[in-house]
Amino acid sequence: MKSITTFSLQYAHRFYGFRGEAQYLHGHTGIMTIEVEDTINEGVNMVFPCNEIKKTAWSVLKNFDHALILRYDDPLLPAILDVYEQQGIKDGAAQNTMKGVDFKTELAAAYPDCRLVITRETMTVEGMIKITYAMLRDKLSISRISFTSGDNTASEDFPVRKSVDRCPYCGVALDENGVCYKCGYLKKDTEFVIRSGYERLDTECKI
Ligand SMILES: [Zn+2]
Ligand SMILES: [Zn+2]
Repeated sequence: MKSITTFSLQYAHRFYGFRGEAQYLHGHTGIMTIEVEDTINEGVNMVFPCNEIKKTAWSVLKNFDHALILRYDDPLLPAILDVYEQQGIKDGAAQNTMKGVDFKTELAAAYPDCRLVITRETMTVEGMIKITYAMLRDKLSISRISFTSGDNTASEDFPVRKSVDRCPYCGVALDENGVCYKCGYLKKDTEFVIRSGYERLDTECKI
């Protein structure tokens, strides 16, 4: 089954070298949908808590929100950085507080201090899906990402390789030691916890 999360990103970009209106700088509210597929986690009766998917995705995608996204070879890039420099906002501003953690992958690099993301390829909806999957594939069992921006929508399906161990109380992924970062649950206790849960139900509810 799948747990599905949708959220929006507001950004400015352009398609450098493209012969159409999109070669001019413009902005969008982009809608991203991330689908996480796995078995049902019996403890919480869900695949994955959607707010956790959002939190994990947002930790990196925050960099794209209220940001300027330009291809590495776009001549607007040095021009804009020049202006930011003259204004003294290139390396940050007191009011620039909603920042993500910077990242650098094969496909994109984020500079949160000046709310800029530089991409290797043109940031189309297809490009954004590639960038997002590369950053999140090791963190979430993503089976599909869809992205809509203006009249453009793209979607891609990804193979889900294995089931992720999740906390039976919080639903979040356990760390490499089998520990839940939220409640401290330890995986090896599963049998005991489920058994004692049933016993409690038996006595409290008199089933
Ligand atoms: Zn656009
Ligand atoms: Zn937990």
